[in-house]
Amino acid sequence: MNVVAMKRQQQLPIFRLCLPMQFFYAHYVHYSHTSQILTTNLNLKSLCQTNRIENARVLFDQMPTKDEYSWNTLITAYVRSGRLSESLHLFNNSPHRDSTTISWSFIMSAHIRYGRGDEALQLFLRMRREGPKPDMYTLGASLRACAVCCYSETGRQVHALAFKTLFGDDGFVIAGLIDFYSKCRCINEAVTLFSDIPDSEHRKRNHVLWAAMIIGHAQNGNAIGALTLFKTMKANDVLPNQFILPTVLTAFSSVEHLTMVRGFGAQVHAYIVRSGYYKNNFVQCALVDMYAKSGDPITGGKVLQITDTEDVVGWNSLLIGYVKSGREHEEEAWSLFTKMHCKGLELDEYTYSTVLSHVGSIGHVEKGRVIHGLVTKAGYDKNYRHVSNAMVDMYAKVGRLDSAFQASDEIRHMDVVGWTSLIAGCARHLSHEKALKIFREMMRSQIGIENDEFLAATVLSSCAAIAVLYLGRQIHAIIIHIGVLSFVTVANSAVTMYAKCGCVDDSRRIFDSMENNKDAITWTALIVGYAQNGRGNESVEIYRTMLQTGHRPDYITFIGLLFACSHAGLVEEGKVYFSTMESVHNIKPGAEHCGSMIDLLGRAGRIQEAVHMIESGVTPPDATVWKSLLAACRVHREVEIAEKAAENLFELEPNDAVPYVLMSNIYSTAGKWSEVGRVRKLMRSRGISKELGCSWMEMGKEVHVFRAEDRIHPRTAEVYSKVEEMMERITEAGYVVDNDWATHEKGREGRERSLKYHSEKLAVGFGLISVSKEEAIRVFKNLRVCGDCHNAMKFVTKVYERRIVLRDSNCFHHFNDGVCSCRDYW
Ligand SMILES: [Zn+2]
Ligand SMILES: [Zn+2]
Repeated sequence: MNVVAMKRQQQLPIFRLCLPMQFFYAHYVHYSHTSQILTTNLNLKSLCQTNRIENARVLFDQMPTKDEYSWNTLITAYVRSGRLSESLHLFNNSPHRDSTTISWSFIMSAHIRYGRGDEALQLFLRMRREGPKPDMYTLGASLRACAVCCYSETGRQVHALAFKTLFGDDGFVIAGLIDFYSKCRCINEAVTLFSDIPDSEHRKRNHVLWAAMIIGHAQNGNAIGALTLFKTMKANDVLPNQFILPTVLTAFSSVEHLTMVRGFGAQVHAYIVRSGYYKNNFVQCALVDMYAKSGDPITGGKVLQITDTEDVVGWNSLLIGYVKSGREHEEEAWSLFTKMHCKGLELDEYTYSTVLSHVGSIGHVEKGRVIHGLVTKAGYDKNYRHVSNAMVDMYAKVGRLDSAFQASDEIRHMDVVGWTSLIAGCARHLSHEKALKIFREMMRSQIGIENDEFLAATVLSSCAAIAVLYLGRQIHAIIIHIGVLSFVTVANSAVTMYAKCGCVDDSRRIFDSMENNKDAITWTALIVGYAQNGRGNESVEIYRTMLQTGHRPDYITFIGLLFACSHAGLVEEGKVYFSTMESVHNIKPGAEHCGSMIDLLGRAGRIQEAVHMIESGVTPPDATVWKSLLAACRVHREVEIAEKAAENLFELEPNDAVPYVLMSNIYSTAGKWSEVGRVRKLMRSRGISKELGCSWMEMGKEVHVFRAEDRIHPRTAEVYSKVEEMMERITEAGYVVDNDWATHEKGREGRERSLKYHSEKLAVGFGLISVSKEEAIRVFKNLRVCGDCHNAMKFVTKVYERRIVLRDSNCFHHFNDGVCSCRDYW
């Protein structure tokens, strides 16, 4: 959101590293050969000034002879409308390119202005190879590029070069160096440079250098240092002027200490009123900006109202201020934009990108479409990177992914911002596969994701959501490589990703490597991770350490903890933790916690106690709770209580197939065949069909999907014959088919056949022929695993001496040597 600051910086002398175009005009008009060129050049200039660039290009191409002025006019026009690649193309072909360094510093500055510091540095290198020798302007521009990209090493090399070329003492270069060192957080070097200027040359310490030093301190968070410098500057008879004041105000609004900013702002505000600079446009805009950025847009609005400036920069600042404060000033943001529009202000790319970001975050798609229309009408729809990125981001945030993709198609060279918007948009709207596909595409297009912790955390979360371990590992490696694993959000996502892929030991390794850098989410991620992977005791242990280290558990911590207690059979501990939720940690138990408590009691066979808990009103009687009770009744064969739970569920969630299936299992186990028929009839009459079971396996870059009895997989024949062999071998070892789990009524044989080719058995069959013996066979299933498959898998691990990890919709089952980590309760 530094767009306004960026724009303002271009207007201030310290950052104006290219000479004004007037210089070109005066300089070259004088040397034009003929009056004909002079006239055509004037026409060319007028076309460019009125933004008719296409016409200007036609005229330019038709000119029989062109001079340096013609070339530079068109190059400048392209830069001004953000068409950098066209300007660069023209620059490269200009026969006058190397006659001075001015054109080089101009084109470099243009790239920096559009955030392409890397390309500016490339240009500098090229100039050194094939162009004129560097001077203070090109050195200044390259320092600014290093500052923008935070390339401290390259910047130091430019510093050395400045000395070698005898420009090291130049005031312009020193200003560039101070700016560069401050931005790269090397403020001490900047201070040394400033104080090393000999007193005999004290005039060099002009406004520009003072401003650079004050900004440097502010940018490095040293508000007091900046304020002291501001006072020292006045004491040295360098009085703040219309250039210094806005610069200082802008720098101050980046200090995070709001009270400090407001205190300082009030002092400068008073000075501005006293000194009569209040009427200056730049000063007005900077004041508005400072108030808006320091979280006081209301005062900013008052200043704007008094000054009634027509300059869009001030209005943009206020708009950004409102947008940044989120929902609190939602109405004000929109009405300010409407006012700007009605007032006929010259809205620019910053106005549009800000209002698009606002509309995206409040999720108002209709307003978004209105802005889209205005943007197109105003001609900001193409070639304006901020606007294009904001458009993609807006559509992605409001969930119109198609429109987001359409908008992204119109961007010629998508940068990391645009890609991130698309990926985050897909992830937010649960299109995780799409999110990862776009991420891969982005990596292929060679866009660097340096230092982008948000993107890293997003893609890891998508890997976790659909449990793609192979890709997750690759992304983990990339993240280590680019150094963002030190961000706690990224490390947390990695902990969760490994846990959700069934590799909780990897989660633990990352957790341990985080040392003192953990927050409550990190602890919770591991507690939940152990719980889901059937290692409840370790969950509880981590929870205890979490409390000892002074971290506070939250709502989700308890979901993991109670789930862990229930799956590890820790009934008494679970009850204690449940009771401390509200009494100690002030967290009101929700349906998930109550469901876990019913699970906990039910698993231990204390069904009556569970029923009592529901009846006494401790838990809300919602579907989660009844489902837990029903599952417990299935394990402990409690037909009557099961009937009660099912009746409630048939009412609360009549279209959910699970209770019908469970109830029919319970009846068939109890031999109540007529009841089985009744439930199935009820299910049919209500038009409910069981969600189709689907299992998948990730192998390298591919995902293999299996559905019950399907024959779509390219290696179907091999898979089926492996399953036949598998069933024969485990039957020899004592496995007995459990027909209760068959949902089709096709007679005993039909039921056995359908059980045999359940999706998870097909997946395991495929795993046996395709996964190497040292590795676990990892299967994912969209529903809960069926009892027959669960039993079969235990035998498979024994007979074949393999490990199987199955993640179903509830938890992980780690099968090994004939037993499952869930201890047959799921
Ligand atoms: Zn099954
Ligand atoms: Zn299990």
